[in-house]
Amino acid sequence: MIIKTAKSAGFCFGVNRAIKMVEELLNKNYKVCTLGPIIHNMEVVRELESRGCRPIDNISELKNGEILVIRSHGVPQNIIDELTSGEYEFKDATCPFVKKIHTIVAAADPENDIVLIAGNTVHPEVQGIMGHCRAECFTFNNEQELNEILPIILNSNNKQLLVVAQTTFDTKVWKKCIKKIKNLCTNPKIFDTICNATSVRQTEADAIAAGSDFMVVIGDRHSSNTGKLFDICKRQCANTVLIETADELDYSKVRSANNIGVTAGASTPARIIKEVLDTMSEIKSGETNVEESFEELLEESLKNLNTNERVMGTVLSIAPNEVQVDVGRKQTGIIPAAELSNDPNAKPEDIVKVGDEIELLIMKTNDQEGTIMLSKRRVDAQKGWEELQEKADSQEILTSKVTEAVKGGVIVLYNGVRVFIPASQATATRDEKLEDLVGQDVEFRLIEVSQHGRRRRAIGSIRSVLKERRAAQREEFWKTCEIGKRYKGVVKSLTSYGAFVDLGGVFGMIHISELSWTHIKHPSEVVNVGDTVDVYVKDINEETKKISLGFKNAEDNPWEILKNNYPEGSVVKATIVGLTSFGAFANIIPGIDGLIHISQIANRRIDKPADVLKVGETVEAKITSIDFDKKRVSLSIRALLPEDEQAPAEEAVNEDDKTAAEADDAAPAEEVTAVSDDTAADETVEAE
Ligand code: SF4
Repeated sequence: MIIKTAKSAGFCFGVNRAIKMVEELLNKNYKVCTLGPIIHNMEVVRELESRGCRPIDNISELKNGEILVIRSHGVPQNIIDELTSGEYEFKDATCPFVKKIHTIVAAADPENDIVLIAGNTVHPEVQGIMGHCRAECFTFNNEQELNEILPIILNSNNKQLLVVAQTTFDTKVWKKCIKKIKNLCTNPKIFDTICNATSVRQTEADAIAAGSDFMVVIGDRHSSNTGKLFDICKRQCANTVLIETADELDYSKVRSANNIGVTAGASTPARIIKEVLDTMSEIKSGETNVEESFEELLEESLKNLNTNERVMGTVLSIAPNEVQVDVGRKQTGIIPAAELSNDPNAKPEDIVKVGDEIELLIMKTNDQEGTIMLSKRRVDAQKGWEELQEKADSQEILTSKVTEAVKGGVIVLYNGVRVFIPASQATATRDEKLEDLVGQDVEFRLIEVSQHGRRRRAIGSIRSVLKERRAAQREEFWKTCEIGKRYKGVVKSLTSYGAFVDLGGVFGMIHISELSWTHIKHPSEVVNVGDTVDVYVKDINEETKKISLGFKNAEDNPWEILKNNYPEGSVVKATIVGLTSFGAFANIIPGIDGLIHISQIANRRIDKPADVLKVGETVEAKITSIDFDKKRVSLSIRALLPEDEQAPAEEAVNEDDKTAAEADDAAPAEEVTAVSDDTAADETVEAE
């Protein structure tokens, strides 16, 4: 017994594409709906349903969070309009060959054209085509139906006739009908839109059926193209059956047949075809001579023609998952998104534009489906590799983007070639994160470019360029550096005594006392690692190459502020910050405390300041004297009290003299004042 299987049996390009689109969404955990079953094969539909893909009849059935996939048959324009104008999320898996028909009929002039569609009126593909047609349109499914329509067409006031076909229309019927139309109508515009996959499949089925005494057509009974295959085979072989799965095989027919032919519709999965073939082999076990295995035949049907040839193509359309190009052949050129660029983050629309002329590599030609699979990234990588080899020899510094952080390093994409930068060569210091480099343009140098058979290796170093750049910066810095010169630097580290700042190739240090006019305990109170700071060179040690940096601004100096805004005689609101036996310290402005001597606290005699004042209290006081050299300020509350109220206190002042004189030994009475915060503590101790 011989079993001959059609090379073109099984999923066509458009169906495969639609199924993949749904599967990709399901893999990403989307809730998916399809407008009608995704393909006419209930086995596949049920399988997808079990994974969460729900067929619906109307877009109003869409629930929140669901994404709709338009199947390969396409939909009328009004559905597209509704989807795009509403808040629906959808993906369009309309087969590009069907889309081509939509474009043809949509261009028909409603006033002057009339459209004839060869196909089944109730088939969703034909419904979709009709929905894109603005001109008057008619359908016919066979010669008889055409005969009924033709009188209407002929009486249509000399309108231009456009004829298209459903992609799966019977080629023999089409040829007959077209002949008739050409004979009867004036200058009809005829577009043979029968899909190449369909015509090859039908021709092959016709030939196999002619040489078989038992012909098996595998596919869903609702599938239009499977139905057509059955009709075609039946014309050649009376003993033709249509089965959906292996279970429907008639064992007696298989046993008694000598030459069995097998074909399958465009929506029949390879798995089901294989099951049927295996079952037939089992039935005829021992005597089976399967002409070629199904896998071999499938492989054969995809056999590469002109593989690895470079061609020029013009970009026709761009979709998220693929780009269509015209490569000047009858087949449709397709670049899958993964074949556009080696950059996994790049979007198709960022790489090519409609109308671009690009050089491509043919990966696979499939005449049955009428497609050529192309790659742009492989051409780019090939060209980039040649260029890279030259650059490696010249040790030139190259610039390109880091596209990925991978195990042990990062990838820089240079002219389509992936250059690996090991972690040890990727950053200036080990504590920098590799992930932070992704998306950045970096300078690098190639340290190894080699090829062993088909394996290519390109390794680069960013660090070697960084080291070189820093050495040059250092040289330039020392040439121009001088005391007082201002720089912008980046804080690289903090210690308890200061902050280290990268000035571009060299480091300088800001001492903690230089960071603030007020007293601070740690540099982190003022700056953080990574901060950009304005500094000036305070001192340079030529021998040790140590640089001391200044950071404080003169205008922020509290003594300057005091001088400009609070002259002697000014009345200020001050906060009591400390009490001693001889007086109270009060904060005037940040960084400066003044002393209110005990004799100046009230207009009467007091035993101790704590009897009248408490820490945290705000008082009104007069600045009675300022000593800028010693950085001391004297304050008086008493000076603000009315004259008559002061009289009794004068005596108290005299009495106070003794107390003040005692205090003078330790601190000179009213002259003892507090100073800026950073020295206040020391001076207070000194005063006490
Ligand atoms: S049969 Fe042709 S037109 Fe129809 S989906 Fe398949 S590839 Fe597209």
